[in-house]
Amino acid sequence: MAVNLLDFDLEGLAAYCESLGEKRFRAVQLFRWIHQKGASDFEQMSDLAKSLRGKLAGVAEVRAPAVISEHVSADGTVKWLFDVGAGNAVETVFIPEADRGTLCVSSQAGCAVGCRFCSTGHQGFSRNLSTGEIAGQLWFAEHRLRQTLQLPAGQRAIDNVVMMGMGEPLQNYDALVPALRTMLSDHAYGLSRRRVTVSTSGLTRMIDRLRQDCPVALAVSLHAPDDALRDVLVPLNRKHNIDELLDACVRYLPAAPRDFITFEYCMLDGVNDAPEQARALVRLVQGRVPCKFNLIPFNPFPASGLKRSPAERVQAFAKVLQDAGIVTTVRKTRGDDIDAACGQLAGEVQDRTNARERLARRRVIPIAEQGAAA
Ligand code: SAH
Ligand code: SF4
Repeated sequence: MAVNLLDFDLEGLAAYCESLGEKRFRAVQLFRWIHQKGASDFEQMSDLAKSLRGKLAGVAEVRAPAVISEHVSADGTVKWLFDVGAGNAVETVFIPEADRGTLCVSSQAGCAVGCRFCSTGHQGFSRNLSTGEIAGQLWFAEHRLRQTLQLPAGQRAIDNVVMMGMGEPLQNYDALVPALRTMLSDHAYGLSRRRVTVSTSGLTRMIDRLRQDCPVALAVSLHAPDDALRDVLVPLNRKHNIDELLDACVRYLPAAPRDFITFEYCMLDGVNDAPEQARALVRLVQGRVPCKFNLIPFNPFPASGLKRSPAERVQAFAKVLQDAGIVTTVRKTRGDDIDAACGQLAGEVQDRTNARERLARRRVIPIAEQGAAA
């Protein structure tokens, strides 16, 4: 099978070029063609030595996962469903804001952590995505958006990536890190470390490794102020408890591109949203972890048996944190008319029949062919 060049960061591509008997610097040209121009056809890469183009044509390819569908929400949010084989699909969501465009990227088909309030967690784990499948979501979305939004040359569509789609990124570490490096590379997307965020349910040893290998912005899914509740909501907590998690956060900060950790907190009615629980959170983090809180209104799905906290309760909870001097935001739910909101990402193609019917009533742009972005 052909080698997928999206599987390489620049270092990996240089090593690959060497293995073909080519000078390493050729990799920079090639990397730029692929990631900056969105090219997938080697013939198009006009300033690349003809000999290299010839060699690549026989053995390599630039292949993002196949796109199943593209849905555009009334608020401009775009959701793509990508086929990752064996009946599995993952989702990628573009969220346009006034001053920037954010892409929410998936790292696994399904997830083994099994959080109570997450539809991906309820599906169980199918498999890790490859580097090419992770970086390929950005490659596809960036170049597709440049085309559909008709952006002037040199203007990028995506300047912020959050690893908050399906899956636990730190349980797919080896594939994740090269994908992050590609996002950061000046010869590819040139995103600043502050604008690439890894969100984790709290794998503490992996947080330490990320600090050493590729320190980007860190978001930690906390969801509870004490171990008894967090054990239930985020089962991984039984292995890595809150104390251990906060220590890992403190160790991360000196290397982090921001001087705070973002704690995500999914607001579940009557479960974790009482003012007393907000006060417990303040006691937990104050003077220990410089942090911000991002409260996420729960996006319900039937199998969860859980309900979203009423808006007033979310506001009251936020106020307790804010009054204690902790910057706290409430996440605006985007794209929920196309099931693109947090925790609504459902991944199995065979489960999509109903969704397809629902989606058929909405605006759906068929993708003619996968190479359309190039
Ligand atoms: N596995 C990683 C990243 C993916 S989940 C993590 O857990 O951090 C991204 C965020 O969406 C997490 O904070 C997660 O708790 C939140 N989330 C999951 N299901 C949700 C739901 N149904 N409603 C609202 N937020 C949800
Ligand atoms: Fe996995 Fe994150 Fe969902 Fe938990 S919230 S099941 S870690 S994707």
